[in-house]
Formats: sequence, structure tokens, C-alpha cells
Amino acid sequence: MLQRLITWSVLAGVLLAGGLMAHKQGLTSAIQEKAHSWYTGENMATSYTKFRVDLVDRLNYARIANKQEIIRVDPELDAWMATNFPTMAMEDMNTVTKQIQTALPRYYRVSVCTATGPSLKLLLDQFQEFSSKTNPEMSHLGCAIRSSVGGLTQQALVIVGQRLRDFSPETLTQKKDDAYFSRCLHCKHPHIVRVSRAQHSLGLECPNCRRTYAVVASDQKGQFRYVNEFLTGYAPPAVFNKDLSRYFQLMTICSAVHGNCIYTRDPGVKKDATDAWQTSLETQRLGQGDCEDSAIYLCDWLLTRGFNARVALGRYGDLGGHAWVVVKLEDREYLLESTEAMPDPSNPPLVSKVGSRYVPEILFDRFAIYARSTPGQTWKNEYFSPKTWTRVEPRSLTPESKPMPSGFAQNSDPTEVDPSRVARTSQPNPAAAPFMELEEIPRDAAVWKMPLPMSAGGK
Ligand SMILES: [Zn+2]
Repeated sequence: MLQRLITWSVLAGVLLAGGLMAHKQGLTSAIQEKAHSWYTGENMATSYTKFRVDLVDRLNYARIANKQEIIRVDPELDAWMATNFPTMAMEDMNTVTKQIQTALPRYYRVSVCTATGPSLKLLLDQFQEFSSKTNPEMSHLGCAIRSSVGGLTQQALVIVGQRLRDFSPETLTQKKDDAYFSRCLHCKHPHIVRVSRAQHSLGLECPNCRRTYAVVASDQKGQFRYVNEFLTGYAPPAVFNKDLSRYFQLMTICSAVHGNCIYTRDPGVKKDATDAWQTSLETQRLGQGDCEDSAIYLCDWLLTRGFNARVALGRYGDLGGHAWVVVKLEDREYLLESTEAMPDPSNPPLVSKVGSRYVPEILFDRFAIYARSTPGQTWKNEYFSPKTWTRVEPRSLTPESKPMPSGFAQNSDPTEVDPSRVARTSQPNPAAAPFMELEEIPRDAAVWKMPLPMSAGGK
């Protein structure tokens, strides 16, 4: 009896202290926390921490045994749930899933689960089945707890999802993920980029504005780069005739590339390792390459010599994907074909004359790509018009994530995102027209004497 009296007086003291605290900080939370600790015999904050640790342990138990990557708590998801769960309507789990994917667009697959019970320990048992069947792609989780009126019932929300890494050629090379997070460089729209491992080159087209904002391709070692980064700044050690006009320099370089690069139909030769791209130095050393290899070789050389040149990726007639080079010199636009017959300097390859069967989709130089400003608009043979082309630098794609607060419910089946959030990826896979083999220029020579093209001698 005495013992009981002491217990009650201690409790009364606690209640009084709680009341004083509530006076300053708001009545309900303090009383609720105390009421909860009497009821369950545990401190709420401590038990919540333990609940989270136990939950993560249970989720990872099978993963560790299977040597899979473990699931981690995502502070961004956690913070969003802490803000939104207290007022969230939990009737429709699809709505909840959509809200998550709107607020945290880098979440690809998402599983949502809730449980209600008188103690956190009982809640944990309810998540047992959920935690045993999360997909291996799921990488992160968040959880939040709320109490019912009076604090006697706890409700927990657990979200497990695949949090995507930022897209970059480097992560594409290093990580074997099937999807990445990205933002359009034109309109800043956040979205998902889904990739197939069989692809050796791909263009990223924004699902919102439909414009392409990056193109990547894999090199000979299987490493991805932005296509403009194949233009490494290489130029063969050629010696030019001092009196050569800019136009004849252009023609000379063009004929040297023709002479030194044998056209190979890359994808046909090695079907599995389709279409690895070459830098200009690699093409120079190999003495061969397909259309984009020779176009890169030609363009790199021209850029180094100060020409306003771009590689074009697009279609040639009915032959499909192709690559060629365009140059602007003294207000004239030239189209240089690096796989076919050497140009005849007396018959300048002006875009207006030779360009009718060429339809470009993307242009690039050393630092930027140029995307069609209005995709699908009829092509008007304007390779250097800022109205037709929008310039973006793929390297300016910076990792960022911005959580956006919003309101919110049980589906343990992961939900795939809706297709309107996913970038359309295409393969700019140029396969080209036949190449006419021309006079060889010695390859490993330290200095080349540039031979004049056929009718050189004045424009
Ligand atoms: Zn866009």
C-alpha cells in the first residue's frame, strides 16, 4: 500500500511537470507523450528510434544474406513524410503514391504501407510481411508515425522506393541501374531516363518540351561520354601552304580525312558491340571508322583550325541514321560528307546544293549540342540559325533535388511511374552510305605535307 502511494505521488509529480511544460509549449503534445509512456511503459522518442532501427534491420536481413545492396533511410523522404503524414488522408494509396512522385520526382518505383496499433512493437510485426517482399531495386525508405486522438493508438507509414541517381555518362558507365533522374536543360522539367543496357548511344528527349537536351555514346572501352566530348581537340600535325585560302584549307582537310579514313560499316561488322564511337585520334590511328567516326575526325580538325564547324546527326534519305559535318564560312554553309567521294573544290558543296536529302536532328561542336527548337518542324536547310537550333551544354546538367511539400494513404505492390514522366530515349545510330576509297596519306608521320585537292590554285 505504501509502495503504491509512492508510485502515485511520483506520477503526480510527473504530471505536474508535464503541465508546466505544456503551459509553455502547448498542452496536447506533452500530455500525449506522457500518457503514451505510461501506457506502453516506454519513452516515445526512444521507442520511435528503436522502431526505425528494427524496421531497417528487418528490411535488410534478407538482403545482407543475399549479398544485395542494403536499403537506407532517405532524409529527404523522411522530412517530406514528417511534414505531410500528420494531415494525410490515407484512403487511396494511388493518390499517396502520386503525391510522393510529384514531390520527390527522383523516386521511380514506390511501395507504400501503413499499419495501426496500440504500440510500436505491434506495428513492427505488421510490417513483417511487407519488409520481406521489397523488390531488389528498392534503395531507400522513409517512415513516419502519428497518434490518434488521445495518443492511445499509433499509426505508422512506411515508404520504400527506388531513389534514382543523377544521370551522367559516368554513372551510366559505373552503375548498372536501369533508370536515372534528370532535368531537361531547356525547360528544367524533372524526369526519369530509362536505359537499356544494350544501347551504346542514346539521345535524351524531354517528356515535357519534347526537345533533345543530351546525347551520349560509348567509346571503345565501353565508357559513355556526351557526344560533343568525342571532339577532344585533336588535329593531325599537318603543314598547310601559306597562300591557301580558307575555302581551300577546308577542301584540303576534307580530302585528307577521306584519304586517311577507310569507311567501315561499324554495326554490321561487330553486331554485339554495336557502334562504339571513336575520338579523332583513335580514327587517325586506326585509319578507319564509320560515318560518325569520320565526321568527328573531320570536325575536330576543322574546329582546331578555327572553322565554325558542327557534326550533324540525323537521317540521309531512306538510308536511316547518318552523320556528316557542316561548316559556315563567309556567310556560306557547306555540307561535308566524310564517307563518300572527295569534294571537288571547283564545285563547292553548299548546303543549298547538296543538302536536300540530309535531315539533321542534332548538331554538336566541342562544348555544346544544338537541338531543334521546334521538334517536328519542316527542315529548311538552316544549320547555323539560332532560331532553328537551341544551344545547350550537357555538362551543365548539375545534380540537384528539391523536395516540394504537398498533402497524401496501402499498396505494397510497387507502382511504376506514369510514362509522361519518362524521357524518350532514341538511338542516334548512324549507318551510312558507301565510301569511296581514296589516296592514302601516311599515318604515323610526325608532319604531313598537305597535298592540294585536285583543282586547287585559287577560288
Ligand atoms: Zn524540356
